[in-house]
Amino acid sequence: MSTKTNDLKKRRVGTVKEVTSLANPIVKDIKSLAQKKNRDGSNRFIAEGLKLIVDAIDLGWDIETLIYAKSVADKPLIQKKAAQVVANSGLVLEVSEKVLTSITRKDNPQMVVGVFSQKFMPIEDIKPQPDETYIALDRVRDPGNLGTIIRTADAAGISGIILVGATTDPFSIEAVRATMGSVFSLPISRVSIDEFISWKDRHDISIIGSHLKGSKDYRAIDYKTKPCILLMGNEQAGLPEELSSTCDALARIPQVGDADSLNLAIATGLMIYEARRHLLELDLLEPVK
Ligand code: SAM
Repeated sequence: MSTKTNDLKKRRVGTVKEVTSLANPIVKDIKSLAQKKNRDGSNRFIAEGLKLIVDAIDLGWDIETLIYAKSVADKPLIQKKAAQVVANSGLVLEVSEKVLTSITRKDNPQMVVGVFSQKFMPIEDIKPQPDETYIALDRVRDPGNLGTIIRTADAAGISGIILVGATTDPFSIEAVRATMGSVFSLPISRVSIDEFISWKDRHDISIIGSHLKGSKDYRAIDYKTKPCILLMGNEQAGLPEELSSTCDALARIPQVGDADSLNLAIATGLMIYEARRHLLELDLLEPVK
């Protein structure tokens, strides 16, 4: 963490401040988290929206700063969470909408924003168990795709996301926005191709690659016998040979029209729901009357 960030932290521990100026150094520091180098340097990120922030705090995520618009300051839930943040030595900022717009870079911003510490799970801590499914993403580039995949994975009971190679940042504001809060619910791991292959070799798991030239229909694959890792290719290049050659099966989703391929997030959604179909039995739901 930089000296500047440390100084800011020391000054603001466990307090509530009213801020209306865009030139305020704390606001400038938070705005700097729009850049990856500053997120990485301080290990922090921004999330927007009251429900999502409340859920994150309740899940035990470490919130450093809670920011809300003056117009919603008297909402009981906001007051309760603000008191909790201050009690845990965090900072609470009551700000103008102009400040919120500049932090989120969005017109009509959410009225509540949080600054959290990032968390990545070391791959060694992932020990897949029976009936577990993980998603591994090769060099995913688009933050919207990554966020959508994390959200879908959360909905379908995926146990974690493994980012392989140089991927987009799961803690960018765009990716976090697209997860709709699921970034707080799933462990995310980051590895090189070599680390992924060596981790794979140490576990009794099935790696199912999703590939345009897959030799098997994605509905004809055995997803049940072993814990399953669904490996998805990069948006432009697809899976490289180095990864596809490590797969236990290559799955193809049939296509009949002129499209070259499916969007990565859509293909991942189809793979996830097929791989977990036996675990997401509809008869667990109430019958439709
Ligand atoms: N030009 C790329 C290629 O040749 O693979 C297209 C990549 S596609 C946009 C991104 C990823 O989504 C693919 O690498 C694959 O994992 C998955 N995908 C997309 N369409 C698919 C299909 N019909 N069958 C299997 N996987 C698919």
